Amino acid sequence: MAEKPKARIGLEVHVQLTSLRTKLFCSCSSDYRGAPPNTHVCPVCLGLPGSLPVVNRRAVEHAIQVCLALEGRVAERLRFDRKHYFYPDLPKNYQITQYLEPICTGGSVEIHGGRRVRIRRINLEEDPGRIVYPGGSPLNSPYVLVDYNRSGVALLEIVTEPDMETPEEAVEFLEKLRSILEHLGVCDCGLEGAMRVDANVSVEGGERVEIKNIGGIHDVKRALAYEITRQHDLLVKGRQVRRETRHWDPLRRVTLPARVKETEEDYRYMPEPNLPPAPIPRGLVEKLRASLPELPDARARRLAEQYGLPERVARVLVSRKVLADFFEDAARLYRGDHRRMANYLVNDLLNWLKDDDLRGLYTRVKPEHLAKLMSLLDKGVISIRQAKEMAEHIAKKGVDPEKLVRELGYTRITDPEQLRPVVEEVLRENPKAVRDALENPKAINYLVGMVMRKTRGRADPAVARRLVEEALARLRGQG
Ligand code: ADP
Ligand code: MG
Ligand code: ZN
Repeated sequence: MAEKPKARIGLEVHVQLTSLRTKLFCSCSSDYRGAPPNTHVCPVCLGLPGSLPVVNRRAVEHAIQVCLALEGRVAERLRFDRKHYFYPDLPKNYQITQYLEPICTGGSVEIHGGRRVRIRRINLEEDPGRIVYPGGSPLNSPYVLVDYNRSGVALLEIVTEPDMETPEEAVEFLEKLRSILEHLGVCDCGLEGAMRVDANVSVEGGERVEIKNIGGIHDVKRALAYEITRQHDLLVKGRQVRRETRHWDPLRRVTLPARVKETEEDYRYMPEPNLPPAPIPRGLVEKLRASLPELPDARARRLAEQYGLPERVARVLVSRKVLADFFEDAARLYRGDHRRMANYLVNDLLNWLKDDDLRGLYTRVKPEHLAKLMSLLDKGVISIRQAKEMAEHIAKKGVDPEKLVRELGYTRITDPEQLRPVVEEVLRENPKAVRDALENPKAINYLVGMVMRKTRGRADPAVARRLVEEALARLRGQG
């Protein structure tokens, strides 16, 4: 099969500043999820004539923090433009956004092996309202509904250069960006619609296609993979890839052609007359720079060093802020092998926590649970295998490990009187292994392993080994 041509991918990521209590230009609550339709609205976010926008200062500060965290340049002044288009989700028929002077330009995000995805610009803008299709999609809906609760929520549009070459790199970029935003405390990107992506993709010899409004990181990967194959196939057949906008259908997992994209002129950009440009004080920028929290890359390095973790494990931990926080809280409660603790969290518990996007951390599983489980291992009450078997119960039901050990009957057998009959049975059943072990001490491991198996891992390995050695010594004496 012919090798796939190189793809170029550039992303436009829309991120809601979910930590803000109010919208970008009015004091309506931005916590609109689950609220009855059109209850978080006022003349400003409904675009009624005569209403005037007032900029939310904290939104500007958050945008600057994001800019600094990505090492971009903060604009000298705050300026807004109007972008006109006619669509029911936009009550004013224009969106207040930034065009000529984005609040941030430049910057980058590091992905694997020191590769960098450059940021072109970041705009501060207002979210449009939400179109609700009663039938689930435009095709099965005889009418549509509009909910303006989302209209005016503060949004950052983060635009990258086309620096990614594979869907996997796009996912890596988005996961890193998400973790940076979580560490800054500006976006809880797990909320429905809080992070929405337009993905631009082209393959050698074709124009670029923009896939609009993809809802989740995994759909970005699927949409890009689908689109790269589609474009490649067209070119192989000698056809052309035209510049167009497409939609991602998450149910059928295909991209479909959408409206013809507006050109720059169609938007009739003009300065927003109700918000004259205002200088961004350098003092404010420096204050915000000084107050930046520890960010994922630095945190991964610190975790690796402070707790003796492999780089890979530290990186998985910081891929989500809540996961790294959980680890550090558990580590503070436990004085043993932190490396083993991190491995258990990342390799065992995480498997069962992924389903609901880590919402089980702190709500069901507590840091104390992880700390206690590690202590049970240290004290030899449970075996590693048993600890692994307990992961599902702990993650899904949040049961205290000490209680769980009793419930599952997982206690270690350390009493020699209880183990001796098992050892004798093993020796009787394995005469060849016994002969080997009499010659070669290394062959003892096999017999100890059989004792472990017969007790389903509950035997204390040290006691089992001592009993096997004693029994062999007796046999030697007889021989
Ligand atoms: P528009 O104004 O139409 O949105 P931009 O020039 O601002 O276009 O680019 C939008 C996005 O498209 C950016 O993320 C950019 O990286 C990406 N992009 C530009 N050229 C290409 C290309 N040839 N292939 C893939 N993506 C591209
Ligand atoms: Mg664009
Ligand atoms: Zn409002």
